[in-house]
Amino acid sequence: MPLPAVAVSQSPEDKFREFLASRPKPQRFTDQQRELVQHVFERHSHFDAEQLIENLKAAKKRVSRATVYRTLAKLVEAGLLRRIELGTRTVYDHDYGYPAHDHLVCAECNSMTEFQSAELEALLEKVAGAYQFRATGHTLVVSGLCAACAAQRAPKRRMVM
Ligand SMILES: [Zn+2]
Ligand SMILES: [Zn+2]
Repeated sequence: MPLPAVAVSQSPEDKFREFLASRPKPQRFTDQQRELVQHVFERHSHFDAEQLIENLKAAKKRVSRATVYRTLAKLVEAGLLRRIELGTRTVYDHDYGYPAHDHLVCAECNSMTEFQSAELEALLEKVAGAYQFRATGHTLVVSGLCAACAAQRAPKRRMVM
């Protein structure tokens, strides 16, 4: 269930076009990049580069593998996406037009449940303050089993015992 969107003044496409144009060596917003940005911001999800390549293929969109990897890196740099490291996997999440949040990640089904906690924010602020650390953000990943996977696992465990 996605969190409520945050109002933004520009579309992701316009923001990315502006980012490319404002680089020291301005770059053109190519058709392949537009296809990718539209696809990624069509709906909220967490995905890795290989999943995105598969999804683009399934949607009959022609975006080369090299373009996918290069554009994802630029979208992170532009503040449109954020990167979340999950052990051996790197997933991408919307950052632009989406509220700050953290994740509960299921080790069994890989589902990512989003949550927001004011108490957690306050606690982190207190911790950073104790170190005179000026925090600009954080990425918290809680690993474990989601309710559905834990329920599925429970009877199996009983049988082994
Ligand atoms: Zn699960
Ligand atoms: Zn998320």
